[in-house]
Amino acid sequence: MFLEAGQRMDKIPLTMGSSTSDGWGRFSWELTEIKSLDLDCVKQWLAIAAVEAKLFAGLDLDCVEQCLASGDQRVGYDALQPLDVEKRKALLAEADKVPVAATEATVAIELSLKFDGFFLVNDPSIVSDDTEDHRPMRNHAGFIVLPARSFRGAFRSQAERIIRTLNVKACTTLDPCSSIENSDSIKKLCPVCRIFGSTGWRTAVDISDFIQDEQKETITQEFVAIDRFTGGGANHLKFNAEAVPSPLLKGQITFDVCRIKKWGVGLIALTLRDLIEGDITFGFGASKGYGSCRAEITNLSVSSQAEKLLTEDKKRPNNQDKYKWNKDDKTAVALLEDYVREFQSVINTFPKEVANG
Ligand SMILES: [Zn+2]
Repeated sequence: MFLEAGQRMDKIPLTMGSSTSDGWGRFSWELTEIKSLDLDCVKQWLAIAAVEAKLFAGLDLDCVEQCLASGDQRVGYDALQPLDVEKRKALLAEADKVPVAATEATVAIELSLKFDGFFLVNDPSIVSDDTEDHRPMRNHAGFIVLPARSFRGAFRSQAERIIRTLNVKACTTLDPCSSIENSDSIKKLCPVCRIFGSTGWRTAVDISDFIQDEQKETITQEFVAIDRFTGGGANHLKFNAEAVPSPLLKGQITFDVCRIKKWGVGLIALTLRDLIEGDITFGFGASKGYGSCRAEITNLSVSSQAEKLLTEDKKRPNNQDKYKWNKDDKTAVALLEDYVREFQSVINTFPKEVANG
């Protein structure tokens, strides 16, 4: 199974650890050698351990002698023997027979975010007494970053707003959905948690970091805090921020059609529309005019499995393996409109928001 996963990592990325839906923990590996421990190796291993501990009862004494005579006293990983070419081939052939799970029903949307003013995601770890009070987060190459986690928070909040506008309940941090232990309990989750995840339910939407396309000069802006009692400038509360003027950031969101169903695609389409129209702000200082942007879909790839699921009851003229985004494709727009209609009908089956007071 492990060999099979390694051989197909170009199709299904391998991940380890937490926050994998935010692009963390991805890795690749290359097969260089397969080693094994056969019965003779185990006997030798035990013999060496016995010689060291002076315990010979129940052991193959011939093996002990051979081992001592040969001077080969390797133990642990060192005792593993490389597999010969034929055995290695046979093992890899076995791995090829493992059926692939149908987890490739993915839609990947590449986005560019064009900020029309200043942008900053504060990185407190690089702030000191000698620097500005707020400084932008950068990646290893020095490019400005909007971390996947920040994008997810703002994007999810907008989806919640859409749900609440329709008078349907979306949970809050003060009153979250209860955790679930099995797939039947998913019915307990609000529509937003079903798409973006909750305790016990992994999100169906993977998001990458959004990275600046080219480095730009930053500027330092000075701020004065306002005293809420006097309405004037508050003493000793002047601060500044290093900001990037009008950057362009690029990233990607990917979702699994098997998990979010067609109404979920409708909700994502509506949230994307708000993002494209500039209704979502990111990073520091939205109230100061920072972080407002307009988005553009630069590419959209639909795996053949996802296309099959999304168009099973629709007539599509092409039958290509990967669907490529084309803004003028009326079929794609018509499909999205269908999913939005599906969302509008399914969303009414969820519990309504209860008015307070
Ligand atoms: Zn919820």
